[in-house]
Amino acid sequence: MCGIVGFTGKQNAAPILLEGLKKLEYRGYDSAGITVEQDGVISVSKVSGRIANLCEKTEDGKTLPGFSGIGHTRWATHGAPTDANAHPHMSCDGRFSVVPNGIIENYMALREELTAKGYIFSSQTDTEVIVHLIEMYYHGDFKEAVMRATSRLTGSYALGVLCSDCPGKIMAVREARPFAAFGLLCGQRKWL
Ligand code: GLU
Repeated sequence: MCGIVGFTGKQNAAPILLEGLKKLEYRGYDSAGITVEQDGVISVSKVSGRIANLCEKTEDGKTLPGFSGIGHTRWATHGAPTDANAHPHMSCDGRFSVVPNGIIENYMALREELTAKGYIFSSQTDTEVIVHLIEMYYHGDFKEAVMRATSRLTGSYALGVLCSDCPGKIMAVREARPFAAFGLLCGQRKWL
């Protein structure tokens, strides 16, 4: 079962996200990653394998400075446990980053729709559709884009979403996923 962490505050987020992910290791996972926002730019680092590999790759978070971020340990359901399939996933324009827990049942149809519209997929996961849907529905209102995107999803999931236009803000969503660690913070379809 995957784990999701988010942090926003006055300290560098990456070391705190890595510590948070370590606390969720007991849930089991096959890959790990974090994204951090700094000065309106979201940077990502992700690896298959252990969180120790991610700590090494990011020099314990030093290579990703910034005060807001989200992190993920993946339990693969759709797509092999590779670096490319690890989360977080990014929108094509680099404005959004998403960490999911769960399964998107109607992802095939959404993937076809988004591909036809020109969105480029970089993984085989079911959940990458979410970040491209958010980009498609974004017209300057982060919350509205997330709500419109999630209204298209069928399945059981929890999400953390970062937007480079909204420093310091993390959107959290839960839908029919009672055991999602992050989802416990936000309740049923409520918004932080
Ligand atoms: N279904 C997604 C995947 O296979 C997320 C799995 C998870 O909850 O970690 O990548």
